[in-house]
Amino acid sequence: VLYGKQTGTSGPRTYGSRRLQSLPQAGQTVLITGGAGFLGSTLCNYYAERKLRVICVDNLSTGRMRNIAHLCDMPGFTFIKHDVAVPLDLHEPIDFIYNMACPASPPKYQIDPIETFHTIVIGSENMLLLAERTGARILEASTSEVYGDPDVSPQSESYRGRVNTMGPRACYDEGKRAAETLFHDYHERRGVDIRVARIFNTYGPGMDPEDGRVVSNFVMQALEGAPLTVYGDGTQTRSFCYRDDLIAGLVALMHTEGDLASPVNLGNPGEFTMLELAQLVLEETGANSELIMLPLPQDDPRIRRPDIGRAKAMLDWEPKIALRDGLRLTIPYFVSERALNSTRLEA
Ligand code: NAD
Ligand code: UDP
Repeated sequence: VLYGKQTGTSGPRTYGSRRLQSLPQAGQTVLITGGAGFLGSTLCNYYAERKLRVICVDNLSTGRMRNIAHLCDMPGFTFIKHDVAVPLDLHEPIDFIYNMACPASPPKYQIDPIETFHTIVIGSENMLLLAERTGARILEASTSEVYGDPDVSPQSESYRGRVNTMGPRACYDEGKRAAETLFHDYHERRGVDIRVARIFNTYGPGMDPEDGRVVSNFVMQALEGAPLTVYGDGTQTRSFCYRDDLIAGLVALMHTEGDLASPVNLGNPGEFTMLELAQLVLEETGANSELIMLPLPQDDPRIRRPDIGRAKAMLDWEPKIALRDGLRLTIPYFVSERALNSTRLEA
């Protein structure tokens, strides 16, 4: 198992027998909000390749048509430009809904925190209402941010978190916590079939090179020969999951039968400081950029590492791609994005 330098979780756990997977069937319909974004567009590809009808709903605030342009002429693929905070008046059968719409990068979700909160909370309720009307199963893209700046490590699903309700990250963290509550209550009181994935930092091809997250920043800076911007002293940690591992986890969570309405952590337990990540990026790009230290943003979590015991037991899922290997798969994508952008600037 290739998590990176630190492997394993905190010991064996049992959650009962493994559940049967009901694989997605050609002709079924999946609706993906945020489908033009990094993760959402990867899900659009996954289901389009398997001949499901795919409805992609996105307002293109952080997503890009470039991520889904190749799908737009395919029969069975529909793009709807729409803000999820506004009710979606669709009257057709839907089997599965992925609720992915929301900027995920801190600088992006902090541009308009009220809009971010509305996207998460009102957007989630609108999608829950659609799921109730159509009988679709709905999966919430929740986040490790519900644990805030944690005082335990690794974080398991039973940990209740340490979140500042009034800081710059609160619109996102508290929005996602409130969305989890809505999902839970629509399930308990109104019988909606829900799944809740707590996604830890995920990277890979398809990320917006300019979105301001650490992997895209460091790789783009290294490719440009610019200094790598390390916030704080760089000793804070994150656990980075490669895109395809994460998508496999989301799909397993969506299509595994059984009582799976409780949150499930999805992430790679390999834990790295930002200084270690910078070093890996320099090694894998061959750059010799300097590091510059910038102030640590307020409420930036000091540590983050998932306990994935529940996902292993319930979904038979664990990540397979270590950080160094994932960077090797991702760097060529950023190289081509740079080339594309410079061609555009010259034209
Ligand atoms: P992203 O920013 O690339 O994609 C988000 C998509 O949502 C974009 O296409 C954007 O245009 C769309 N969107 C935003 N607000 C919208 C609105 N009001 N109406 C319709 N569409 C809207 O981010 P991502 O990394 O693909 O993240 C997808 C989801 O996964 C998000 O909900 C995020 O919170 C969650 N998540 C991601 C990570 C990660 O590391 N990538 C970690 C935890 C959780
Ligand atoms: N970070 C950094 N340099 C950057 C961007 C981010 O050192 O150019 C740090 C940031 O302070 C945080 C970590 O990298 O400690 C992960 O940041 P990111 O925005 O990718 O995700 P999140 O903070 O939401 O986990």
